[in-house]
Amino acid sequence: MMIAPADAVAELLASAGARDYLGEPVTVVDHLLQAAALAEGAGSPAALVAAALLHDAGQLLEADGTAGLSGAELMAGRDNDHGERGAAWLASWFGPAVTEPVRLHVAAKRYLCGTDPAYYGLLSPASRYTLTVQGGPMDGPQARAFEASPHHRAALAVRRFDDQAKDPAAQVPGLDHYRPLLEELARARA
Ligand code: FE
Repeated sequence: MMIAPADAVAELLASAGARDYLGEPVTVVDHLLQAAALAEGAGSPAALVAAALLHDAGQLLEADGTAGLSGAELMAGRDNDHGERGAAWLASWFGPAVTEPVRLHVAAKRYLCGTDPAYYGLLSPASRYTLTVQGGPMDGPQARAFEASPHHRAALAVRRFDDQAKDPAAQVPGLDHYRPLLEELARARA
């Protein structure tokens, strides 16, 4: 029997990589829990809350879907595409309303940098650095292609929560708070 999604997520968030900082003031696990809390606090649909919670799952997965990528490796430009990797892993349980915003959240950063002059200034230093290894700001045709995805607005929303979820003082619910939501989304495969 396939492992339940909330158990798989719990295992991933308990991995050594989840306690890494990846150049940010918060650990990966704190960052993901904050992103989910921001999504929920904004009244987002369940699939968007789950996408916010899981958007960096790919940073915790190697290409084989098991071990993690270290902060040193990430900062050395080894982040080929953690959005793709995370979405592929999540597709074992969830449908496109969860997996597509996860897959596109790196593209969303490139889109916002290409279309919103103020956005780049909001990025953390680590996020600015990784932009260069992720392909840099999108040009016009790339931005139009991004807008053609039915999930691009959800991806942009995840990106905004992502950028805000870096507060070392934030007090937010733990993973157990999201278990019913994850199980329900997996049942509905939304
Ligand atoms: Fe993130």
